[in-house]
Amino acid sequence: MTDNNSKSQAYVQCINPACRAQFDCMEVLYKCPKCGELLDTLYNWDKIELPGKLSNFGKRWATRDNRLDFSGVWRFRELLNFCPDKNKVSVGEGQTILEQNCAIAEHLGMKPDCLHLQYEGLNPSGSFKDNGMTAALSHAMMVGAKSCACASTGNTSASVALYAHKCGIKCTVFIGTGRIAFGKLSQAMDYGAQTIQIHGDFDDCMKQVQDVCNELGLYLLNSLNPYRLEGQKTIMFRIIEALGWQVPDWILVPGGNLGNSSSFGKAFYELKELGLIDRIPRLVIINSTGADTLNDLVNNKGLKWNDGNVDQKIIDDYYADLTAKNFSPHTIASAIEISRPVNLKKCLRAIDVCNGLVMAVPDEEIKDAKALIGKYGLGCEPASAATVAGLRHLLADGTIDKDARVACVLTGHVLKDPNLTVNYHKDLEGQFSNPPVEVANDLQEIIKLIK
Ligand SMILES: *Cc1c(COP(=O)(O)O)cnc(C)c1O
Ligand SMILES: [Zn+2]
Repeated sequence: MTDNNSKSQAYVQCINPACRAQFDCMEVLYKCPKCGELLDTLYNWDKIELPGKLSNFGKRWATRDNRLDFSGVWRFRELLNFCPDKNKVSVGEGQTILEQNCAIAEHLGMKPDCLHLQYEGLNPSGSFKDNGMTAALSHAMMVGAKSCACASTGNTSASVALYAHKCGIKCTVFIGTGRIAFGKLSQAMDYGAQTIQIHGDFDDCMKQVQDVCNELGLYLLNSLNPYRLEGQKTIMFRIIEALGWQVPDWILVPGGNLGNSSSFGKAFYELKELGLIDRIPRLVIINSTGADTLNDLVNNKGLKWNDGNVDQKIIDDYYADLTAKNFSPHTIASAIEISRPVNLKKCLRAIDVCNGLVMAVPDEEIKDAKALIGKYGLGCEPASAATVAGLRHLLADGTIDKDARVACVLTGHVLKDPNLTVNYHKDLEGQFSNPPVEVANDLQEIIKLIK
């Protein structure tokens, strides 16, 4: 432990206000060794040369032959300045777009130019996870890690496997039984990860992987890892960039392990502190009703950040009840099928920073929203579509104005979960089902169908 990290540009600090222990970034820690709470990566901003105003980051588009300027994460490197450039790994992550989507806006009854979809499916492994992995694996390189591991509902393993391969680090991924979308599983195997399927759900995998990493000294890549969340901040920087360096009114994001929502809150808090933005957008975190721990705790049990003094008893009682009921979460949105989110407290802080809201939407609405996005937008996996499903409700009850500027984070690519898409259309499951039509091998019959 370091008493005073003021000499370095970055350090790690416990989020517990009664502890606030600080550590050097060369230590490999995922939870505070003193009190067991989550850790933040923090910066001595006066030691970092910032670009003055956000739009200066945009000038790096002109120097894209520099691999760090090409990366949509490292283009913003001064805002996540925890490792030297030589350790930074990149496979060209973050080349994602903010699509203004008038068709879906009109469908939802919004003013047409107000809805934006931040399409993170364009990342190298097909989900937003690459934003975090490029940062965490860079830290792994900095500390000389030789092997790494993660628990995963699918996309984390795909992303870890890709980046570990790039770094030459051995990689083991833990997945639950029968709960992983095929596209994702195929990636982990193809990128050469050792894939271990545990008889249990994601929460079981999450517990095992932490013990395994402690026991064997593997580098842990779940979103407990405070460096991963630093990379994920850049999703917000890119949204601001795409809006001409203005902040939107609302950000909507699906909530699983709550890493994204936590990192978005941290991003806006830091930008505001640094005077790089003048207001913070509101954040909506959307659960599936089949995995709605956050929604239940915040909206029904009154759980709050409370300046860091979170009422632990509410959480402990809630989890004890889940255990007593032998509860296992169930949703078609497999990426958010999590009932004990590891970043819960950081997410509560993000809700506090961003005047945030939490809600849950049922699977049927997620499926229809996914098909709507497919029909008029870029296509996404089910968890991502929870954003648009939630937006529909928030517009209907007047929480979000029809002319508010909204950005929904589409977290993963449509090809991640092809089975779900095929079944939705073939089995006429919803409002936008578009099944294939069979026809005889006959020109006239075929023409009749198309005319
Ligand atoms: C991991 C993931 C989520 C959940 O994000 P958290 O940061 O764990 O809340 C949502 N959507 C997709 C596609 C994911 O891969
Ligand atoms: Zn602590």
